[in-house]
Amino acid sequence: MDGTTTQTAAPVLILLGPPGAGKGTQARMLEETFGLVQLSTGDLLRDAVAQGTEAGQQAKAVMEAGQLVSDDIVIAILRDRLAQPDCARGVILDGFPRTAGQAEALDALLAENGQKINAAISLDVDDAAMVTRISGRYTCAACGEGYHDSFKTPAAEGRCDKCDSTEFKRRADDNAETVAARLDAYHEQTAPLIDYYAAQAALMRINAMGQIDEIANKMGAIVKAATR
Ligand code: AMP
Repeated sequence: MDGTTTQTAAPVLILLGPPGAGKGTQARMLEETFGLVQLSTGDLLRDAVAQGTEAGQQAKAVMEAGQLVSDDIVIAILRDRLAQPDCARGVILDGFPRTAGQAEALDALLAENGQKINAAISLDVDDAAMVTRISGRYTCAACGEGYHDSFKTPAAEGRCDKCDSTEFKRRADDNAETVAARLDAYHEQTAPLIDYYAAQAALMRINAMGQIDEIANKMGAIVKAATR
């Protein structure tokens, strides 16, 4: 052993960006194109809240206020999820890490398996546009496909393009007040990770203000190169 970390076959990609940047949408597209597993700590936490687990009970009020859930809770949830067999296909982390402590914990967790991240992709957007993007968004309650009142409505009104469901839902924290708190949390605690990954030579930046497909094409090229 020469002490260097070898990249295993299972890629690990990180999506960085403020709420509304399109991390979830892009992660879902990458999941379909590359067979990676989308791993959203926001989704895992919302599941924990819905199930009323201890972690969920602790996280609920924090999430409603648009603040960050404690590193201990989030790291434990992520570690459990990463240990599940489907993650051996490779993962795309959507909304994790969000603090320096989480980034360091992730590096340590991956190093235990001789892995490291392939790329951290920053979706760069204008803050001012995020409130509009977030306040109009909703998802299919059955399959999770994302929609928006102005930018992406279903082809047949009220019917999901992907699975035909007629049930849709909106997130409780997608309101103007909470969005402002979430943007503050991003700038204070998460944006510094851009420098953290630049220092690891893992950072890729994308202008994410354009069309969804255009951004997906750029993302696809980055992921292809980073997972070769
Ligand atoms: P998201 O679905 O990624 O927008 O996350 C929704 C909410 O879940 C956030 O506003 C936070 O309260 C919480 N959350 C999600 N991921 C994390 C994380 N990595 N660290 C701390 N809190 C998180």
